[in-house]
Amino acid sequence: MSLRIPLFPAPASLETMPTCGPLVDTFGRLHTNLRVSVTDRCNLRCTYCMAEDVVFLDRQELLSFEEIVRFVRLLVPLGVNKIRLTGGEPLVRRDLDKLVAMLCAIPGITDLSLTTNGILLAEQAERLYRAGLRRLNISLDTLRPEVFRQLTRRQGLERVLEGIRVARQLGFRPIKLNAVSIRGITEEEVVPLARFARENDLELRFIEYMPIGADHWERSKVYFAEEILQQLARAFGPLRPVPVGDGTAPAQEWEYPDGGRVGIIASISRPFCHHCNRLRLTADGKLRHCLFALEETDVKSLLRGGANDKDIVLAVRRCVWAKWEGHQINTARFLKPARTMHTIGG
Ligand code: SAM
Ligand code: SF4
Repeated sequence: MSLRIPLFPAPASLETMPTCGPLVDTFGRLHTNLRVSVTDRCNLRCTYCMAEDVVFLDRQELLSFEEIVRFVRLLVPLGVNKIRLTGGEPLVRRDLDKLVAMLCAIPGITDLSLTTNGILLAEQAERLYRAGLRRLNISLDTLRPEVFRQLTRRQGLERVLEGIRVARQLGFRPIKLNAVSIRGITEEEVVPLARFARENDLELRFIEYMPIGADHWERSKVYFAEEILQQLARAFGPLRPVPVGDGTAPAQEWEYPDGGRVGIIASISRPFCHHCNRLRLTADGKLRHCLFALEETDVKSLLRGGANDKDIVLAVRRCVWAKWEGHQINTARFLKPARTMHTIGG
């Protein structure tokens, strides 16, 4: 592992790192949740995620399904039981349903989900359902075609809506909608998206816009959780916070006066790092302990270089042990990682 810039306090000595038992970091956080990116490619070009003229990885750089499954199998005995497939756009990876079936067959994986932009969902939903997938997160920032085009630099809103319809009909549950919250855009979308979600039995979550895309981010561009809540309260009546479960879910949930919920992922205004239980495996096989990490562990070289299981597990433990306290976005110390969102996996 290479440390680019020694900005933060050095992690506790490796001598005190546990070499058996669950994946715990120096702050006592248990890691049970792995996000697996299956590609950095995408059929949209969201302004907040990637550059218009993005250059994608060569296909041989991507981990094979067999490599992903080997890695996941090694993490299950360490307590990882939750996997989310993401990207880039995971549905542009050929035969994704085969990976879904392979992951569903791993004893100990109790929760498998997929985050998608929904463009290819209508045509792939049935295959994914048959392979064992049940949980979906679909990104939908707007219900207006012209705003969709402005944000994604592509057409396709109708295809996303059709994907949502087909997924509901097939019985996927829960279906969550992710909407990035950007000042100057989201204000007009909050109430229509909330109505759409309420009418269609979908769990809407707003995500505060984060500094992880190719574009220029500044705090003033974030449309904050508090503002969203005020808008929702004006339209639907005062919302009540839902008591948090184990605290590891990034979304704070709120209940409408007449029932039903909405979630807000307030990564900027209310960071939830102190409960983070997530690790991320990039499509090119790098393990990251944080979305904003400045360092990563090269799992692909280990997988392709003949490393034994023990060595790979040790590398994972070291990655977790090096995890910092939190992302620092609200401080002058924050450094944007070299990777943008689509090359990490959201
Ligand atoms: N392509 C799929 C999609 O869009 O759902 C999966 C990958 S995408 C990187 C995962 C999630 O990250 C999406 O919900 C997307 O809206 C969100 N996202 C991307 N860039 C973001 C940013 N700068 N701030 C907040 N969320 C972001
Ligand atoms: Fe593609 Fe998802 Fe990034 Fe949009 S947010 S460009 S759909 S990877």
